[in-house]
Amino acid sequence: MANSTERFFTGAVRGNRRVNDSLPKHDIVLLGAGHTHAHIIRMWRMQPIPQTRLTCISDHTVATYSGMMAGTLAGNYQPSDMEIDLVRLCASCGVRFIHGKVTGLDVEGRRLRLENRPEVTYDLLSVGIGSQPTLPTGNEAGLSIKPMQTFLPRLRKTINKILAQYAGEALQIAIVGGGASGVEIAFCLQQFIKHHYGDTTASKITLVDAGQQILGGMSPRTQKLANRELQRRGIQLRMNSRIVKINGERELVFEEGARWEPDLIIWATSAKPPALLGALGLPLDERGFLLTRNTLQSSGEECIFAVGDTSTVEGERYAKAGVYAVRQGPVLWENLRRKLEGQPLQAWQPQSQFLALINTGDERAILDYRGLSFHARWCWRLKNRIDTKFMAMYQSYDPPEMMHATAETSADAELAKQCGGCGSKASARVLQKSLPALQQSKYDHVLMGLDPPDDIALLAQRPGLSTAVSIDFFSAFVDDPFLLGRIAALNALSDLHAKGATPSAALSVAILPHGSDEQQARLLNDLLAGAVREFSPHNVPIVGGHSIMGPKLTFGFTILGDADAESVMRKSALSLGDCLVLTKPLGTGVLLAAHMQAACRTEWWTTLVESMLVSNQHAATVASEIGVNSATDVTGFGLAAHLLEMLKSSGFSAEISLGSLPLLPGAAELLENGFESTLAPSNRDSCCDLQIASELQGKSATKILFDPQTSGGLLLAVPEHQIEELLSQCGKQAKVIGRIVKGSTDGCHLSIVIGQ
Ligand SMILES: Cc1cc2nc3c(=O)[nH]c(=O)nc-3n(C[C@H](O)[C@H](O)[C@H](O)COP(=O)(O)OP(=O)(O)OC[C@H]3O[C@@H](n4cnc5c(N)ncnc54)[C@H](O)[C@@H]3O)c2cc1C
Repeated sequence: MANSTERFFTGAVRGNRRVNDSLPKHDIVLLGAGHTHAHIIRMWRMQPIPQTRLTCISDHTVATYSGMMAGTLAGNYQPSDMEIDLVRLCASCGVRFIHGKVTGLDVEGRRLRLENRPEVTYDLLSVGIGSQPTLPTGNEAGLSIKPMQTFLPRLRKTINKILAQYAGEALQIAIVGGGASGVEIAFCLQQFIKHHYGDTTASKITLVDAGQQILGGMSPRTQKLANRELQRRGIQLRMNSRIVKINGERELVFEEGARWEPDLIIWATSAKPPALLGALGLPLDERGFLLTRNTLQSSGEECIFAVGDTSTVEGERYAKAGVYAVRQGPVLWENLRRKLEGQPLQAWQPQSQFLALINTGDERAILDYRGLSFHARWCWRLKNRIDTKFMAMYQSYDPPEMMHATAETSADAELAKQCGGCGSKASARVLQKSLPALQQSKYDHVLMGLDPPDDIALLAQRPGLSTAVSIDFFSAFVDDPFLLGRIAALNALSDLHAKGATPSAALSVAILPHGSDEQQARLLNDLLAGAVREFSPHNVPIVGGHSIMGPKLTFGFTILGDADAESVMRKSALSLGDCLVLTKPLGTGVLLAAHMQAACRTEWWTTLVESMLVSNQHAATVASEIGVNSATDVTGFGLAAHLLEMLKSSGFSAEISLGSLPLLPGAAELLENGFESTLAPSNRDSCCDLQIASELQGKSATKILFDPQTSGGLLLAVPEHQIEELLSQCGKQAKVIGRIVKGSTDGCHLSIVIGQ
């Protein structure tokens, strides 16, 4: 009999293993995805460092290029023109992307702490989380220009709200901060209001600054040009006006005692450090930014780098501007490599002057460089050329190439020596390190589980009920193990939910790529932590498992549960006239296939992940309570094959209307463009009992029928008189897609028709 450790680590997987089959030796983590880190991600595509993983953690799935923000306000660009899609960029460069918010750092343990998920460890860390505008302490009313990713929607929402209350009156807008960004925004906001709210919406913009002159640090001629243009455009200046307090939502209190209540306040003031920097336990400059050596390493810790607005290099004086962050990119890239190789690092020195171009929103720009000043169309064209060229480097999301050589190397040879059979088990130390970290509640029905560990798990049985069992696991399709664990848990629970059974315990199945005990333990811990996050609300403890080392990360669960044999929602229990209801949209297969080729856009990815993280428990409970007799969950074989299974076992046929199938955003477009899961062709081949209306033959839209679903929805056969109640309780994702009809004599069980 296997002991509990063995229950996690038994089995055999052999075969040709390559370098990319093992866990990386080194972990480089980029915190934040600003100007400097974008360069590192792009370089990774061209020259990945062998046996090293690059991870990017960002609190947003897009990065916004500030150089184009004002132009986007002015209508020169679409919002997407200034955005870097981090999901696609990382996928195309072979970089692991974690969408998460970092809350702290354990410098000794080399671990980053994140909100609502396990820590992320690193060998080298680079911190580049930018800066924030300075606001008077105590009340943070008004609109901050950061986070820039949400600035436009926040601006529109606020203006709409104001206009709803103050219809007809001129909008009083205060832009606080007379630096380059405040001046640019003042010019371009005028165009924004005209474009989005029409000429009838009058606005009065005032630029407020504590200093004597706008554009401090630029030449007097540049300041004069900007002043003249502001005056010509009716934008007022309120200089020598330091705001010390905000009362309520928008009353500005000035140092000299004056008060002013504009309708809208936009903060574009000088940079202050994000609060997180103070919590990292690293040396800071006098303003609270991370202090670094000229190698960009933290002054207090050699394995931590800090770049962009986030840091200040000891002994150097320079502004918080994107040009410096951009110029640090190549030095950081070189130094990360050198640090891993133990070589001396390069020094970075800020340039003494830089070209500044201020968009005036009228297809002209003000140029300031080494005492020269111009305000002209050619300056705007120059700015546009520089900015679009910069963005083009980060908006090309070509499919990833094989990141590591496939040729046999000494590391390959080492892996090939690894034993099979029980010799393929990861060491017991892996479990000893990862299992105690699992934070599970105590469950009364678990008589023997992981705490204390034993050879088997023992569960109390509920009298009168039968045991329901199912298994589901898959190879990794996301490179974030915590997310993979969450989806794997919900995917595995789904079979029991589809039958109306109540899950009561889970046994994990894991194939872990080769690596050190430490790395495998961390990986297993993240996978299990993700699973526990989803199992807990379902009252499902993990009571054991079975894991081995193998070529590709694979993870899933056997789920045990209780069911009343009489009321199980069998596939065969269909009735004539039943309505077919699908509880989640289709398209996970094609979207995941596109993601592997860096073609799944951030907004599609976000809804895809949200959908996979929806538990089928609620829909199943509603179905059981209403008295639905027949159900299945739509998974790897796709909608058509799963429905055909139901039909064949009952002798009925079904008609479904293609137009009524709910689809995840992006699925239709990707199918149209030829994307498809590798399993889709065999799913299609298995559906010979299928008749597709002649008008639909060969149409790409029909491919969705064969799209394999990961953590897909339930397919319910609902008596017509109960359909309204079911839909009202299931939520808006549930859709009627067709109905059960009489069995066909020609052997065709499923007809796909056009329809709404
Ligand atoms: C309107 C405007 C226009 C500007 N125009 C110019 C210009 O034309 N030229 C110029 O040189 N400079 C310009 N600047 C300044 C420039 O934007 C900054 O200097 C530059 O963005 C700094 O780059 P960075 O990489 O340090 O940080 P950022 O570009 O700010 O990137 C930091 C990233 O870290 C992420 N992040 C923050 N906190 C966390 C966290 N806790 N966990 C995970 N991720 C996190 C953020 O979402 C962000 O994506 C402008 C600034 C503004 C406001």
